[in-house]
Order: sequence, then C-alpha cells, then structure tokens
Amino acid sequence: MELSSRVKAVGDSVTLKLNEKATILQEEGKQVYNLTAGQLPFKPPKAFMDCIGGELNLLKSYQYAPVPGFVDLRQKQIAYFLKSRELDISDVDMKLDCVVSNGGKHSVYNTLGCLINPGDEVALIAPYWVSYPEMIKFWGGKMCVVKGHTYDAYIPSMEDIKSAISEKTKVIIVNSPNNPAGIHYPKKWMEEFAQLLEEYPQLLVISDEIYYEVAYFDPKPTYFYQENPELLKRTIIIDGISKKLACTGLRIGFTMGPSHFTKAYGKLQAQTTSGANSLIQRALIDFDFGNINTFLAPARTHLRKNAALLQEKFRDAGLAKCWYQTLSAFYFMIDFSRTPLFEKYSKGEASGDYSSQIAEDLLVKTGVAVVPGTDFGMPNSARFSLVLDEIPFAEAVSRMTLFFTDQLD
Ligand code: PLP
Repeated sequence: MELSSRVKAVGDSVTLKLNEKATILQEEGKQVYNLTAGQLPFKPPKAFMDCIGGELNLLKSYQYAPVPGFVDLRQKQIAYFLKSRELDISDVDMKLDCVVSNGGKHSVYNTLGCLINPGDEVALIAPYWVSYPEMIKFWGGKMCVVKGHTYDAYIPSMEDIKSAISEKTKVIIVNSPNNPAGIHYPKKWMEEFAQLLEEYPQLLVISDEIYYEVAYFDPKPTYFYQENPELLKRTIIIDGISKKLACTGLRIGFTMGPSHFTKAYGKLQAQTTSGANSLIQRALIDFDFGNINTFLAPARTHLRKNAALLQEKFRDAGLAKCWYQTLSAFYFMIDFSRTPLFEKYSKGEASGDYSSQIAEDLLVKTGVAVVPGTDFGMPNSARFSLVLDEIPFAEAVSRMTLFFTDQLD
C-alpha cells in the first residue's frame, strides 16, 4: 500500500524508541528509573472523579456533544481564564470565545490548521515541545527556530527572536511554562515581548498555557496580553485538563481566541472529530475549578523538593554548569556538552548531535531513561522529568551524576 507523502514525512519519535528499550530492560529484570514521564503520577481530584460518577447514568453523557463543546463549559473556561490571569477585557473590541477539543494536542493541531498556509513560517523557541514541528510540517508550514541556552535558563532575548522572524513568519508559538525547559518566561520578558509584537503587527501568537497551574515557585506565570489586552485580538490560547487535573487520558483541551477564529476552528472540528467527549465535558461543568490549586499543592511541594535535590547533587558532583533553576511544569534539561563525559562522544567535534547515543548509553549503563534533546530542538541535551518519588529520584540522579562525570567503568 502506497502511503501519502504527507504521512511519510511525519518523524519517528526518539522518545518512543527509548521507551521500548526501557521496557525491554525492565522485562529482563533490570532496575529502570523512568524519567521520561510527562504526567503526574496521581489520580485526579476526588471531587472531579465524583462529578464523573454523577454523570454516568445520564443519557446525555453518551450522546454527541455540540461541535464546539457544551456552552456552559466554554463559558466557564473563559471565566476561569479571565479570573486566573486577572484580565479585564471589557475595553477590548472583541468577543473571546472557547472551543473544546480532544486534548491540548488536538487544540494546537486544529489551531495551526486554521492559521497557516503552505509555505508560511512558524517561529518556535527552542527547546520546544516535540509535537509542534511535526504539526507545522503536516499543515505545510515551515518552522524557524529561536535558539535557547542552558546558561540563561532557556530564556531567549528579543534580539534572538527578531533574528528568527522574517516577512513569511505568520505565527510564533510561546509555551510558558515550558515543556521541556521547566521554566516560565519572566514578567519583564513578557513586557518586552508585548512591545516586540507591536513592531510586528501581522504576527499571530499561539500561547500554549497547558502548564499554567503547575508552577512551583513565585512569581507565577504572566503573559504578554496582560500588558496589552488588545493583543488578544491576535492570540490563540491553548489550555487543557491533562496536567492541572492529572488526567492525561481523559482528553479535553481548550482553544480560546477571537470568535471569528473559533467559528472557522469549529468548521474544521465539525468535519473531522466532532465535539469532544460528552461525559468528561459534563463532569467539568459540575466540577469547581477552584479546587485545582488545592489539588496541586502537594505536587508543587514534591517538584520543589526534587528540584532542590537535583541542585545539591549536581553541585556536589561538580556539574554546577549544567544546573539552572526550574520553576514550573515537570521537567529539567541537561546540557550534555557541559559535562565531563561529552568529550568522549564528541572527540572534539562539538558540532555533531550525540543526544540519542548518550541517552541510550545512560539507559543501558545506569537504568535511567531520559528523552534526548534532538526532538526538542536542543542537540546534545536531554529532558528528564521531576515527578518520580523522592527516593528513586535521588537514586536516579546519583547514577546520572556518576555517568555524566565519567566515573562509570
Ligand atoms: N502542550 C504542551 C507544551 C505539552 O507538553 C502537552 C503535553 O505534553 C500538550 C500541549 C498537550 O497535552 P494534552 O494533549 O494531553 O492536553
């Protein structure tokens, strides 16, 4: 069967390959510390599970939902968004609308489909979420990358951003808090970014805020449109329940933007997937979003503790150059090129990318599974997750430090 060139162009996931290898090692009885997870290892809030239970016997929970989602949920999500971001948009001449989709990933995919024409450029700030490049490619777009660095905690300057933008750049994706860097861009950065957008009046923004609530250090994330709410006229906001309610399998995402955009988005969704899961939408209508912060409090404490442990172990092992302060989401990026081990792989040729090879050796020699940076647009690096329980996490970090400082075999 001849497959379409479009689907053939979709890249293989390096993460999946490594996960397969980790599973094989586990089956062979080896101890594996899986630091690849992009989800909290908890059940969702009890109050939310009760809301799901309360809807189970109702016919409506099993029938088609309206294509853009139940009106009550869409309005509730907009009210939550405006309140949590402390936004008053009464002076902005636009109607902010919301469409419910099958997860944040689906929201980003549909959004790109509604915004880009073949040949349009989309600016991405590296490290970026692995799915953006593939989705951009799938819709015929091209990506232009703004490089990030460990030494400034992956926060690019406005000059870096400007140098990636050309007259073909239609959209820039800003993902704060960021997967995989585990930081959110500071308020000052957001102020400067709001000014930059005024210099580029045609540029649209996709603001992926799926990790907004998962910030474990103050100040909490802020956004460019808080500086100038008029910017909401050319901003699409992505949100969802996967991360904040610890339910990655329940697949609900929110896309918020001006109503003329959400109308077009609704057409695309109507002819492809229809409305998202009725049961979960209805449970979300019943659920008090005010519970989210209380629910996440223990997760925040846990992430803070693991981040502190990491700092201590890296500093003691002489890996201070690889460390930076994470603030949010579940992740940390390690820059292999700043470890004593790197020379062994690069043999002086630092321009190559040895991420996969290093991650594979790390897994085989220490049992620690991480995600190579290649797919995040960061050669010679890897992402690992901070969610593991404290004791196995400490053990995994000890093993990593021995490996990175080249003290194994
Ligand atoms: N955006 C980012 C940056 C993510 O990391 C993820 C998931 O890992 C998503 C969006 C999509 O999440 P979901 O499709 O589970 O809602």
